[in-house]
This record gives sequence, C-alpha cells and structure tokens, in this order.
Amino acid sequence: MARIKVLPAEVAQKIAAGEVVERPVSVVKELIENSLDAGATEIKIELEEGGKKLIRLQDNGCGLSQEDAVLCFKRHATSKLEKEEDLEHIATLGFRGEALASISAVSRLTLKTYNGEGDRGYQVEREGDRLIRFLEIAFPPGTMVEVRDLFFNLPARRKFLRGERSELNLITSYVTQVALAFPGVKFLLIHNNRQLLNCPAVSRLEERVYQLYGRQLLDGLMTVDYEEGGYRLSGLSSRPFAGRADRQHQFFFVNRRPIKDRVLSAALTQAYLGMLDRQKSPECFLFLDLPYELVDVNVHPAKAEIRFKEPQAVFRVILHGIELAARSESLIKPVMVGEAGRVENRQPAKETKEAELNLQEKEEQKENESEVEKEPQEEIQAPEWSRQASPTWRQPGDAQQVAENSATSRAGRRVLGQYLNAYLVVTSEEGLMIVDQHNAHERLLFEKFKKLDEEKGWASRQMLFPQVLELSPEEVLHLEELQEELAGLGFELEPLGERSYSLRAFPDVFDEARATEILRGILAGGGPERLKSKRDKMLATMACKAAIKAGQPLSQAEMEFLAAELFQTTQPGVCPHGRPIIVEISRDKIEKTLGRQPGRTG
Ligand code: ADP
Ligand code: MG
Repeated sequence: MARIKVLPAEVAQKIAAGEVVERPVSVVKELIENSLDAGATEIKIELEEGGKKLIRLQDNGCGLSQEDAVLCFKRHATSKLEKEEDLEHIATLGFRGEALASISAVSRLTLKTYNGEGDRGYQVEREGDRLIRFLEIAFPPGTMVEVRDLFFNLPARRKFLRGERSELNLITSYVTQVALAFPGVKFLLIHNNRQLLNCPAVSRLEERVYQLYGRQLLDGLMTVDYEEGGYRLSGLSSRPFAGRADRQHQFFFVNRRPIKDRVLSAALTQAYLGMLDRQKSPECFLFLDLPYELVDVNVHPAKAEIRFKEPQAVFRVILHGIELAARSESLIKPVMVGEAGRVENRQPAKETKEAELNLQEKEEQKENESEVEKEPQEEIQAPEWSRQASPTWRQPGDAQQVAENSATSRAGRRVLGQYLNAYLVVTSEEGLMIVDQHNAHERLLFEKFKKLDEEKGWASRQMLFPQVLELSPEEVLHLEELQEELAGLGFELEPLGERSYSLRAFPDVFDEARATEILRGILAGGGPERLKSKRDKMLATMACKAAIKAGQPLSQAEMEFLAAELFQTTQPGVCPHGRPIIVEISRDKIEKTLGRQPGRTG
C-alpha cells in the first residue's frame, strides 16, 4: 500500500491559508490592501480582542458585483492580473487572488458590498470553506468584510496567537504605516469600542506625520525630494544633528508598500554618518518609487520582503537624496551648523578630566606602595555617566566594593586602553580580554537596577520644567499597559488630552534629558526576547538606553571603573540581551601561537 497520499483539497487549502494568514495583523493587512486597490478614501477598522475575536473593515471603495462577490473567494481569483507578463509590473497592492480565499478558509467571514449598480448590494456568509448564505441587501457603496474567530477550525494555530495586547500592537503598528503611506485616505481604528487612531484625509505627508506623532517630531525633519536614474526618493527625514536615540521611527515605503529592508536601512545609516550625534539614529518617512520591473515583490506570500534588482542604485539614490536635502538645510539654517560644531568637538567633561588626573597620581603612588590595603577610596571618581546612572555607587557598601575591585585589578587585571572607541583592552595573568564597553555597561546597570528594584529603592525627582511628550498611538498603548510599573520607577506622567502627556517627574538616578530618552525607549516596547518578565524587559531597556554607546571615547578612569564594576556582576560574560561582552585570548594560546614556552615569556 502506498504511504504517500494526496491531501484532501480542504486540508491543502488550510495549509496554504496559513502562509498568507499568520495572525490577525495579516488579515488586517490583506483587507486594507484590498480596500486601497478598490480606490477607497475612507477605511474603518474595528477590532475585538486584538482581532482574535473580530476584525471588521469597512471601505467606500468600488464594491463588488454579484458575480464577483461569489468569485472572490475562489483561490487565485483576482481582478488585478490577467497574464504572466502582468507579474512584471504590478501596480496594485494585492495580486495573488489568495487573501479572501485564505482568510475565509480559517474564519467565519461575512462580506457585504455594493458597487453602485442596480439598487441592491449583496451579502455573503462563509464558514471555513463553506458558503453558508448569499442574500441581497441594502448597503451603501463600498465593501465591508467581517472576520470572526480567526483559526476557529485550526486550534493548533489559534493557540499559537499571542495575547490581546500583543496582537493589537502589531495591528496598530501596521495601520500606522499604511496611514503614513496614504495620507489622502481617512483611517479609523477602533479596539473594543475605543478609538485608537483617527486620521482624517489630508493632502500632504507632513500633515499625516503631524496627526500621528505631533509637532515635536515634525520639527526635527527636513524634506527630501530627489531623482536619479529612474529612482525617486521623497518624504521626510531627520535634519542634520536632530535624530532620536532609537530606530523606532524609521519608515520606508517602496512603491508605497511599507518595507523593512537591509539595503535601505544600511544606506540611511551611511547617509547620516557624521551628520548626527553618535548616540542618535535618523528618523525617516521615506518613499522610494521605482519602475515595477526593478523590484521583485513576489518573493514572500505575504509580501513582507522585496528584492531589488539593482541594490547599488538604491543605495546611491538614498545617499545622494539625503545629502542634497541636508546641504540645502544647512544653507537655510546656519544655526544648525553651529550646533554641529558643538556636537563634533565634544570635550570630555571637566570632572572626567579631573578623575583622569586623580588616577594618574594614583598610578604613580602605586609604583611606590606595594600594599593593597591602603587604597585611597574617595579618590576614585565615578565618571559622570556612571554616577548619573549608578545611584548606589556612592553608598557605603559600594565604596567598599570599589576598593575591593581595584584590589583585584591590582592583583592582575589591567586596563591597557580603548580600541576603536568601543572596546576596552584588559590584560590579566590568564590572558588578554577585549571588553565591549556598551554591553559591559549595560550588564552592570541592569544588575544595579534589579538591585534597586528588589530594595524598592527608586526615588522620583520633579522636572524643573515639565516636558510635553507627544506619543504615537502605539506608544499610548504601551503607556497604558505599563502605567503602574512606570509609576513604581518614579515616572510621573499627566495626560494633557489627545496623545499629549506632560512628564513631571522621573527616576532620580538619571538626568532630565536621559530620563526622557529612557521613557521613550520603554514606550517603544520590546526589550530582550530572552527575558521572561515584563519588569526585567523594562529594566533591560533602561539599562540599554542609559549605557554608554560604542564610539564614545573614555578616559582611563572611566575604563578602570567600568572594568572593575563589570567583574563584580553576576554574569560579566553576557549582556541582558544575551550578547557576549568579552572576547578572551588565553595566555596559553598567545604563547603557543607565538612559539613561546608556556609561562616563560621574557
Ligand atoms: P487579490 O487582492 O490578490 O486580487 P483577494 O483575494 O485579496 O485577491 O481579492 C480577490 C478580489 O476580490 C480582488 O481582486 C478584487 O477584485 C475583489 N475585492 C476584494 N476586496 C475588495 C474590496 N474591498 N473592494 C472591492 N473589491 C474587492
Ligand atoms: Mg488582496
């Protein structure tokens, strides 16, 4: 008997459906694309339970005829593609004719539609793969698709879905992106009867960015408009020396599709080299338009990926486009150039210099003294950045610890210096260590924060001038989710209506500027996947934002401090994200490789 069987059609259908429909956001995406392809100028999305229970989308697009209302659920039924050559220049968002078939295969679906012909519209009800009902109804021009109980007939798949918040976050983030791509379309997003996003149609991208993110963000952007060899780059991007501490607001659209792509982000980073403070990344809302045949959107069933046929040309147009925009920016706004100078010639803080001197003196003392005990504790200055974010450092217990640290370092560990402004070179009897300064600082801050947390030691400080934060819809969701946690840390936020908040108080271990940046980081969501608890994720995000970055020059004192503190942590080897902190080359390896007799260097 044959072991191989051809799958029954409905099983095959469900499997294929899984490739297009992975989670609620994939349904939302397909439905929105259909509405846009249908020429809609108003799209309303209603959700329940993060879309797991209900996704209802209504548009004012062209609607479907009676015949099409039945046909559209057939696999590979599409009005957008007729022959193979069409695949080469796809102008619509959808084209596979799979979405409605797939969605209806794994949900209870109702479609209502009216195309303006005759005086009646149609209603189709389907469950799994079966047509349940077809009726004539009175309906306004346009289409409504209601998707209930996603994966009701695929329990394994349903179990795989995340919590309500998590699914909702993905949807909000997606809707935000299409809303950016189509300012001329009105978007309304409602979850459990609550309005999350309401963007009336506007004529320009600037206005849409304003609707979603507010004035502050817009002020930091310049207009980009550039064309080269059939490629057009337009939109908004950070002014020189503006930018933001994370990559939260980097949006690319290729032929108006939201796209995440390595070529694009690499080009952006390159374009801003030397134009931003090292701690900052550019914000951008950039649209790349190119001939359809120069980009392959066909590589992924859900079209999350694309492939450029000429990646170098793409790279160039981004580089040149940003460069040109930045140049005219600085002509218009000479103030920016002044600021640039300031950023470029960043001097080490006075205190740090003193710390450096102190340490040199100590080195000299060390030559004379051979005993460890009499370490002049107070003289090791915690560098400014670490004092700011390492509150427990000045407490008596810690002074003791630092003394012990330097004792150990004297026993064998020495910091030779900094490599590429990113790594500490540390030697000891056992070998040579290269320590990643950011990861190291992140690890030690994380542990300090955890300790503070256990001791309930967070104290709050009032802002001198409360700062107004304009949050995106996604950030508002995160804020609501984390409200108590944030209050526990000492963040005090007062709603000012719409999506504006006033930041009145912050954890006193940071300074004002840093505190805002850290709050933004937390509201951006995420945190290391490997950490299970929400609290730990949050503390890790704080540590990451507060930690010194790669590229920052450090004084000898700062390096000594960092190394000493690092080796006091429970896991000096890995940062909270799970990235390694140290590369070690053992003495044994060095000696063997260089043909020395082990233990007899000299
Ligand atoms: P595709 O979008 O790839 O063509 P779908 O399964 O998403 O495939 O849709 C099938 C067809 O149904 C579309 O080609 C279009 O003709 C029609 N359709 C789907 N949604 C809408 C809508 N909101 N308004 C008008 N027509 C629609
Ligand atoms: Mg479609």
